[in-house]
Amino acid sequence: MANPKWKTPRSKTRSRRAANWKLGPVTVVECSQCHQAKRPHFVCLNCGFYDGRQVVAPKDEHAGRTNQ
Ligand SMILES: [Zn+2]
Repeated sequence: MANPKWKTPRSKTRSRRAANWKLGPVTVVECSQCHQAKRPHFVCLNCGFYDGRQVVAPKDEHAGRTNQ
């Protein structure tokens, strides 16, 4: 029976595994409110709308935290 002469080092195993792991491209859809690109099932970062209603305050230049 052919056997490997040496045990595969952990670094080689890990680099082999790491080579097959990568992030995919981010999915973006158009916001129904402001028509900006946003991620699906996420609150729009531009207008703060989700499911047709205002959920978070829209991003402003120097607005800070103002809850109405
Ligand atoms: Zn929007």
